Amino acid sequence: MSDGRYFFALWPNEAVRDQLSAVNRRMAANGRPHHADDLHMTLVFLGQVADSQLRRIHDAADVIRGRPFTLHLDRTGYWPRPRILWAGPERTPEPLSQLVFDLKNNLIPCGFEPERRTYKPHVTLHRKAESTDPGKIEPSIEWPVTEFVLAVSGGGAGGSPRYRVLQRWPLGTAGDSLTNDADSISVNRR
Ligand code: ATP
Ligand code: MG
Repeated sequence: MSDGRYFFALWPNEAVRDQLSAVNRRMAANGRPHHADDLHMTLVFLGQVADSQLRRIHDAADVIRGRPFTLHLDRTGYWPRPRILWAGPERTPEPLSQLVFDLKNNLIPCGFEPERRTYKPHVTLHRKAESTDPGKIEPSIEWPVTEFVLAVSGGGAGGSPRYRVLQRWPLGTAGDSLTNDADSISVNRR
């Protein structure tokens, strides 16, 4: 079993990361703000992973084609139970839903139970935050999404980042040759 918990995510570029950090600073929600380098949007959470599963997880991601899209981060929200303050889009873009669907589908043969709860795209800004009223982000943060990543958590000592990006996959460029030996794997071919 590898150390750490694995997850697929979108990782912001520097410009988006800086804008998210600025929103985070303005919110002043006490609690623990995420390190700027940790800001991300989880797509699928895998948790701990056996070494033998890692190769298959990479294979499942290799055959994803997907499409680049723009994410409009236009609102903040607060979930009282985990006490999380987050930023997210009012509407989930269809290519994002499709990407999450394809990843989950492709991970089933790797032994992962798909999450049944509706996917709620969000970037956690603050953990253990005080309640804040949901608000609009104006102007909204325009995030050009051109890739997804596999990341692992487990850092965070002494104020350093908690998460580490392990691998990146571009959206919209996977070659058809990659899909040929993946008969049992669903691929977004649009
Ligand atoms: P900790 O659990 O130690 O407080 P964390 O929540 O930041 O830290 P992980 O639990 O490893 O770290 O989670 C990594 C990412 O996956 C985070 O974005 C987290 O919100 C998300 N995540 C964790 N558990 C789930 C889950 N059951 N479903 C969906 N996303 C999850
Ligand atoms: Mg957690």
